[in-house]
Amino acid sequence: IVSYKDVHKSFGDTEVLTGINLDIKPAERVAVIGPSGSGKTTIIRMLMTLEEPTSGDIIVDGSNLWHMEKNGELVPANEKHLRQVRGDIGMVFQHFNLFPHMTILENCMSAPIHVQKIDKKEASQRSIEMLEKVGLGDKLDNYPSQLSGGQKQRVAMARALVMRPKIMLFDEVTSALDPELVGEVLEVIRDIAKEGEMAMVLVTHEMEFARDIADRVLFLDNGVIAEQGPPAEVLENPTNDRLQSFLHRFR
Ligand code: ATP
Repeated sequence: IVSYKDVHKSFGDTEVLTGINLDIKPAERVAVIGPSGSGKTTIIRMLMTLEEPTSGDIIVDGSNLWHMEKNGELVPANEKHLRQVRGDIGMVFQHFNLFPHMTILENCMSAPIHVQKIDKKEASQRSIEMLEKVGLGDKLDNYPSQLSGGQKQRVAMARALVMRPKIMLFDEVTSALDPELVGEVLEVIRDIAKEGEMAMVLVTHEMEFARDIADRVLFLDNGVIAEQGPPAEVLENPTNDRLQSFLHRFR
């Protein structure tokens, strides 16, 4: 459902990603691990159209994300094209990014109404259903400031899921949370994963969780995918020296 083809990304003179090749199957769950600054977040931000690759292609469900065809030639994508292809993708951020002036229910209804042009009643039904699923059915009229970090993060998930994406991206969604709130958020992700309908890409520092949930773990280092495979292989029997010492820190 997603293909990265020789994707490079530089910020100024620094090339952070130096050739990413990656195919993600529908409903596959991929965990991305690696040292701080290795470009894990940048990989998923490019898929969410929040960063533009310096070169290379990203294909989403058969469509080239950052390029479109015009008069038989590939040209840089315009906003409309980006929006269209991105329509299948949902993302949850480290810092929740909820709208503070809207209730939780309004937070969830906003994109279905304004982006997907779904009528208000259906958007509201879908949103309530999703908020109940993440255990917040009794908080519909609360504002984000009235919730704990874990609850805010669960709203952020419901808000992304309401759009029924084919691909969900999770960017270190537990790293801004107090330790006692991490469990409830991971539990919701586990529930979503069990349904097995969406592809999921999770940038995470939670190795146990990655082992538990992922079909495949990618170790990003020095701008490339330095090692990848099933969690049991990558996390238990790493062959890459730098991965060995990276994992050592989590023991
Ligand atoms: P962490 O685990 O610390 O979140 P990461 O692996 O997710 O790190 P990225 O956030 O993808 O790493 O960043 C990779 C590198 O690119 C870092 O050195 C970062 O400083 C740099 N970088 C990321 N975004 C920008 C930006 N908008 N402008 C300039 N440099 C950036």
